[in-house]
Amino acid sequence: MPFSLLGLSPELLRAVGESNYPAPTPIQKEAIPAILKGKDVWACAQTGSGKTAAFALPLLQNTLNLDRGPPLRVRTLILVPTRELAAQVGESMQLFAGYLRQPVKVIAVFGGVSINPQMMALRGGADIVVATPGRLLDLVDHNALRIGDVTTLVLDEADRLLDLGFADELASIIERLPQRRQNLLFSATFPAAVRALAEQSLHDPIRIDVPATAVTQPAILQRSIHVDAARRTQLLRHLINKHGWTRTLVFVATRYSTGHVAEKLRRAGIPAAAFSGDLSQGARTKALADFKAARVKVLIATDVAARGIDIAQLPAVVNYDLPRSTTDYVHRIGRTGRAGESGVAVSFVPANLEDHFRLIEKRQGVRVPREIIAGFEPSGGRSS
Ligand code: AMP
Repeated sequence: MPFSLLGLSPELLRAVGESNYPAPTPIQKEAIPAILKGKDVWACAQTGSGKTAAFALPLLQNTLNLDRGPPLRVRTLILVPTRELAAQVGESMQLFAGYLRQPVKVIAVFGGVSINPQMMALRGGADIVVATPGRLLDLVDHNALRIGDVTTLVLDEADRLLDLGFADELASIIERLPQRRQNLLFSATFPAAVRALAEQSLHDPIRIDVPATAVTQPAILQRSIHVDAARRTQLLRHLINKHGWTRTLVFVATRYSTGHVAEKLRRAGIPAAAFSGDLSQGARTKALADFKAARVKVLIATDVAARGIDIAQLPAVVNYDLPRSTTDYVHRIGRTGRAGESGVAVSFVPANLEDHFRLIEKRQGVRVPREIIAGFEPSGGRSS
């Protein structure tokens, strides 16, 4: 089915054409018509499924149909867990809005940077605000923004929002919104707390389930390698060189390790950068831009720092340290193989973490055969 049958305006279709999206992804096919009709949506979808465009396109179109009248009032509020995601969603929306006949003002606001420029940007109002919850409340408290006229609320990556401890902020924001509004909730996973949030905030929603297998998994080759913890950096170098990965996102457990592993790779001649919450916003933006432009080949990140990063054509993700939970595993490997492109997700499994990785496999319902790489045989080696 082509995009042109989904009910989008010619201007938005032109923007989609410019993005070179060949056809709508499964979530876009279902969500776009539903959102255009003003329905609530409960969507189980991962990053990489095309979920941003699935809500951004119809919401832009709906904004044009509203009686907006000056001063600009925030009609659409999109809550996201991280600053990177806020910036990315904001950029996508601005890009899609590029050909609209009437300008639509989209502002992204997030913590970790000075509030003043965001207050300035909000002067005169905005149609659509993309925000992390804490900063949004700060701005509301500073009277920089009114949310009493919001007609559509989007909760993006709802599981992450709750994981990061935003439950109170969300409750406080939702309390200040008008009762009657359209609600869209997107989440990769639905543990009890997310289901409860969905049940509280959604009204007679259309449910959309894009199982991980529909978009992400066929494109992602999952590998796991038995290796001694002490030899992981060498193995990483070996894999990068052997497979010619142009860009690799490597996950480690601590902020300290981001710097440590990056330094070891740089010493071996591989351009690598650390990406952690320790960095200033400027340093994060630079690291991400260098990585996107392939000036940096390897980005070493923690889960928290990497949440919501969207880098097209990421060929490889490496779990240098295994994630603690299956949810984190799913989010990590979802960074490669975006929207149908192929990618590889490699997990390093030292012998003492074999049981932990088995649990991750079991919860995901997959079995990823362990490999042993010649020259990197584990000392007490166990394989299956
Ligand atoms: P998201 O799930 O929103 O994080 O999107 C993941 C990636 O897929 C982004 O890089 C988008 O630019 C890309 N994308 C979104 N929709 C499509 C589509 N219909 N066809 C191809 N790529 C897409």
